[in-house]
Amino acid sequence: MNTKVVMVDINNIDKDRIEEAGKILREGGLVAFPTETVYGLGANALDAEAVKKIFVAKGRPQDNPLIVHVADFDIKPLVKDVPEIAHKLMEKFWPGPLTIILNKSAIVPEITSANLPSVGIRMPSNIIARELIKAAGVPVAAPSANISGRPSPTEAQRCIEDLEGRVDLILGGGSCQVGLESTIVDCTVYPPCVLRPGGITLEMLREIEPSIYVDPAIMLKPEENLKPKAPGMKYRHYAPKAPLKIIEGDLKKTIAKINEIVQNNIDENKKVGILATDESVDKYSNALVISLGSRHNMREIGKNLFEALRSFDDAKVDIILSESFEENEFGAAVMNRLRKSAGFDIIKV
Ligand code: AMP
Ligand code: MG
Repeated sequence: MNTKVVMVDINNIDKDRIEEAGKILREGGLVAFPTETVYGLGANALDAEAVKKIFVAKGRPQDNPLIVHVADFDIKPLVKDVPEIAHKLMEKFWPGPLTIILNKSAIVPEITSANLPSVGIRMPSNIIARELIKAAGVPVAAPSANISGRPSPTEAQRCIEDLEGRVDLILGGGSCQVGLESTIVDCTVYPPCVLRPGGITLEMLREIEPSIYVDPAIMLKPEENLKPKAPGMKYRHYAPKAPLKIIEGDLKKTIAKINEIVQNNIDENKKVGILATDESVDKYSNALVISLGSRHNMREIGKNLFEALRSFDDAKVDIILSESFEENEFGAAVMNRLRKSAGFDIIKV
């Protein structure tokens, strides 16, 4: 397949390019596009044949449902009912990085929801994404625009690397502001349950509904048996090519441990990548060190995480070592992605 690549300036959106992309979606094609979380790979959510192409292009397991992206608050046609709490969350956090799970209506094909009776719905805040959905005139099913299992793309170039030749159009539009996938809240149950941490933190959600809690399965290893309620959370995910180890504990001890492991690997002629922070970046040597940002700004750290993992792929490192972060607020989403990237390979110090 010939993939067209088109760039759009988020501050000066070329309407013709958006119209062209919208038409491809409406007619059953695949378009990768920027959102504030990560780049998405979109298809008409109501067209089973179109949605099937997403699974093929990504190599995504068929039992992993897709999130349906909308540009309109009137989601009634997609769902059986909208509970009061879902209304409140939409009002407060849409458009934005929050996906709400509701009981689906019959117009949502089984393939979109992977045979679940529910569907995840989100209204992105990225203006290119919303203009595209409007131009398509249909709700847009869109998982992250990467080959399944790889770190999600937060730059257009990463979608091109993964999807060129597999999709009709890649719409580039700068870097993603949040950089991690949306928070998912299941509103088919009460109290509502967070199935995946993201840009809208538990603390923010609890200001609206204090009873909201986090699915305990999501921080555990897949083999620890508690089945996560979001099917996608059980897969190895976000993985760079080299094995990634997380060193968890006091920062001074972490730095010492990382330096020790670097030395062992150098002795074996291995190339090491280190995920560090502004506070620690000058404490390492003999390795490719990337600072994710300051520990005082977890938003910056989350925004840079996936791109850093992909840079280590480019540099062909043999092993990646990462510091760890506190799990409150946005740190919960960062540590969730980091642990999955590492396949839960964690050294406690
Ligand atoms: P991605 O779009 O690649 O970030 O993946 C979407 C995530 O949403 C996966 O973890 C899915 O399992 C989850 N998800 C989507 N729809 C549902 C649903 N109806 N119920 C539970 N989880 C869902
Ligand atoms: Mg994904």
